[in-house]
Amino acid sequence: MGDQNNLIPGPSPRVLEKLVVPKRILLGPGPSLVDPQVLEAMACPLVGHLDPFFLQLMDEIQESLRYTFQTRNRLTLPISGTGTAAMETSVVNMVEPGDRVLVCVNGYFGSRIAEMAARHGGDVRTLQRRWGEVFTPTQIQEAVDEFSPKVVAIVQAETSTGALQSIEEITPIVHAAGGILVVDAVTSLGGVPLRVDEWDIDVCYSGTQKCLGCPPGLGPITLGPRAEEVLHQRKTPVSAFYFDLSLLSKYWGTERMYHHTAPITANYALREGLRLVAEEGLESRWSRHRRNAEKLWDGLEALGLRCHVEKPHRLPTLTTVVVPPGIDDLQVRRRLLEEYAIEIAGGLGELKGKVWRIGLMGYSSREENVDLLLDALKNLLNK
Ligand SMILES: *Cc1c(COP(=O)(O)O)cnc(C)c1O
Repeated sequence: MGDQNNLIPGPSPRVLEKLVVPKRILLGPGPSLVDPQVLEAMACPLVGHLDPFFLQLMDEIQESLRYTFQTRNRLTLPISGTGTAAMETSVVNMVEPGDRVLVCVNGYFGSRIAEMAARHGGDVRTLQRRWGEVFTPTQIQEAVDEFSPKVVAIVQAETSTGALQSIEEITPIVHAAGGILVVDAVTSLGGVPLRVDEWDIDVCYSGTQKCLGCPPGLGPITLGPRAEEVLHQRKTPVSAFYFDLSLLSKYWGTERMYHHTAPITANYALREGLRLVAEEGLESRWSRHRRNAEKLWDGLEALGLRCHVEKPHRLPTLTTVVVPPGIDDLQVRRRLLEEYAIEIAGGLGELKGKVWRIGLMGYSSREENVDLLLDALKNLLNK
């Protein structure tokens, strides 16, 4: 019998055309545009994941991540997986069945943390705010007094609403009650001020495709001393082998104990992305994001458009714009993509159909992109 008899009948052996990808200007909630230098790094040849060259690259990534997170935490590494994987890593390592978890929910990603903590056996309570609003220290204080949580989780930059949560007043409240604070910094790391050590954050995680100018695929995370202690005091093993930080720290630490094969090219990309963060300097990078966001906000206002979030807690890396009455949300987004190659996003959850979400993150946060988008919106809204 010929070889073809071993193939399943039906699908014809069509050879696909060689891949050609359309050029897009990514101004949505992520992924954002990847810096060309990062793309170049990703095209480098593979080495083995225990090759001395790669081991050194792992160290360089950890060192650069410490700078980017503004921390001296030993346990600082990228999880293989996207931001959600880093979120789940935080949850499975900090929460044991029956542990009290207070999750601050003022958008889609807060609810995701709550859902995860419940799935992993946590005794979850949520503190709710309307989408677009932020939490005050008093609200957190009351909830902490009432519930005495072991873990409090909060999102610094809610990508679903465009609100920027201030963190530094919250940590002392959580610590005074003996808890630990987990902060989602997926849309803030590398884009808006985040100071893990100064703000005394215990667990902080992020993703590579928002403000770090890399493709999706890795989820940087850092654990402070209190969180390490929680990890050591666990009575039960971490329920997910892949996300077990005690094992991962042996792979990323000096023992180099095999745990999984690190995605080599994703790590090349992250190293290059972090190199560019350091080259630009964190503070310049934060100002660039703010400057371009303000240019966008002014331009939107000039077009008669209104932002969904009040200016004092508006997030520079993601802006939610109210879809004006009589305007077809979907049609504007489709025409932006088809006629201008610009991607923005619609609303999520309770903001579905009500707002557009415009991201100015990482390499996408450039003056020329703001001009392109404002011109395009002007043309489309005038029609
Ligand atoms: C994007 C995002 C996530 C999830 O990250 P993925 O890379 O999509 O898995 C989590 N939290 C926030 C705030 C986000 O913006």
